[in-house]
Amino acid sequence: MPDFDVIVMGAGHNALVTAAYAAKAGLKVGVFERRHIVGGAVSTEELVPGYRFDYGGSAHILIRMTPVVRELELTRHGLHYLEVDPMFHAYDGETPWFIHRDAARTARELEALFPGQGEAYTRFLDDWTPFARSVADLFNSAPGPLDMGKMMVSSGKGRDWMEQLPRILKPYGEVAKEYFTDERVRAPLTWMAAQSGPPPTDPLSAPFLLWHPLYHEGGVARPKGGSGGLTQALKRAIEADGGEVFVNAPVKDILVKDGKAQGIRLENGDTYTARAVVSGTHILTTAGAMPDEFVPESAKNVRVGNGFGMVLRLALSEQVKYRHHTEPDSRVGLGLLIKNEQQLMTGYGQYLAGEPTKDPPLIAMSFSAVDDSLAPPGGEALWLWAQYYPYELSSGSWETRTAEARENILNAFEHYAPGTRDTIVGELVQTPQWLETNLGLHRGNVMHLEMSFDQMFSFRPWMRASQYKWPGVKGMYLTGASTHPGGGIMGASGRNAAQVLVKDLTRRGWK
Ligand SMILES: Cc1cc2nc3c(=O)[nH]c(=O)nc-3n(C[C@H](O)[C@H](O)[C@H](O)COP(=O)(O)OP(=O)(O)OC[C@H]3O[C@@H](n4cnc5c(N)ncnc54)[C@H](O)[C@@H]3O)c2cc1C
Repeated sequence: MPDFDVIVMGAGHNALVTAAYAAKAGLKVGVFERRHIVGGAVSTEELVPGYRFDYGGSAHILIRMTPVVRELELTRHGLHYLEVDPMFHAYDGETPWFIHRDAARTARELEALFPGQGEAYTRFLDDWTPFARSVADLFNSAPGPLDMGKMMVSSGKGRDWMEQLPRILKPYGEVAKEYFTDERVRAPLTWMAAQSGPPPTDPLSAPFLLWHPLYHEGGVARPKGGSGGLTQALKRAIEADGGEVFVNAPVKDILVKDGKAQGIRLENGDTYTARAVVSGTHILTTAGAMPDEFVPESAKNVRVGNGFGMVLRLALSEQVKYRHHTEPDSRVGLGLLIKNEQQLMTGYGQYLAGEPTKDPPLIAMSFSAVDDSLAPPGGEALWLWAQYYPYELSSGSWETRTAEARENILNAFEHYAPGTRDTIVGELVQTPQWLETNLGLHRGNVMHLEMSFDQMFSFRPWMRASQYKWPGVKGMYLTGASTHPGGGIMGASGRNAAQVLVKDLTRRGWK
């Protein structure tokens, strides 16, 4: 008898989702995680006394477009989502504006501030909401070879498809220009689209902007207590269904015999057997644990990129005060802090040259405004995500250049909220190197692999592995950001992989 029906390698949120569905389907599940806590890039700890910091993703958006929370009854297992509304605070340092969950209110306020732009915003949502919904549907199922085509067809749903279709093929920076004439509106929307990695000039990148309507559909949310509230609830769900979750348990080898996955060997030498193994780690980590003869060239040729973001997490003794005193609204949602489009492109240029951006655009997150468990009364947990930062630098190393990059992020934030640096009482600096060393994100890519269209849908991680199975090895399954639909807090890959696994391993199949 094997030790488990299913062994799961890594406890990122996708792996935990797969494990939870498998346990719910009656399979005996064992999860093995390298770190001291579960969650990977969706985890939270009190890193400064009194201040809880997320290690990775913070804005829960896409998972709300999936049935994961409902189907796994995560609320019953302690997940409590807090709504974040206004969802976004756009600010160039001169004219703040807000994106509320209520699209009509957003458009009304925009129109009052920037005549013509509220109307453009409404037109943009009307044009692209059906498309955005179709994309969300495609995320929630295993990718098919025709998905790209389906996505294109959906662009024309109820619209003039000859106008719409070509837009999908364009760079998102261009499409933003077609809708919004005022740069003060366009730049923050473009900056939000840049979060997936590709720059505004990349052909075929328009979907990163065109799914913007989804924010109004599902909203932005935060688990009470931090992002890790999601993965802690998943752990409890697994355990409630008889599964076991082991931390400080790095997997060294995936054991394969007669072309079939048999189990795992941990770094301490312990071995565990199972009917099936699922890996939710970065695909290069999975490949590193597989016997060499089962690792195809395609697995070695995935494009991981060269990092792109870095984070400065600050514990502040006081709440953030923006120059235009728009608190508390400005402290609630994601701050899209960008002076103009040139700032983004200059940063990208410096990144291409192997240099950390000198004056980065920022996403400011001060979720202590909606969750009082993140900071002591009167204080603030402020996280500043900045782009672009190469993992591999043209000169120096991250050991020698972290202080300068940190300083430049702080300086950039002073433009919007002067005096913040005087209130710092603790911090965590996460460079691309830090993300690789601590979270196992190769070359600091928070999306595992580049989110370019040659690595999306059935091309992720590569075509023969796109159905959540390692090709050529029976009983070896894959999930995580390295698989469709890619990075972000979504759980869709975890659920899609569970469907394949549960169908294969149980008589009742997927219900
Ligand atoms: C700083 C940062 C900010 C982000 N911001 C957002 C955001 O606001 N919103 C959003 O939607 N997304 C965001 N993301 C992206 C998102 O968080 C990730 O893409 C996503 O969480 C990846 O999840 P995953 O399930 O693929 O696995 P991962 O989180 O990558 O987990 C893989 C797990 O495998 C473990 N592991 C590795 N090697 C081994 C081994 N040998 N044995 C056992 N275990 C192993 C790792 O320790 C890790 O726990 C952010 C990410 C980061 C890092």
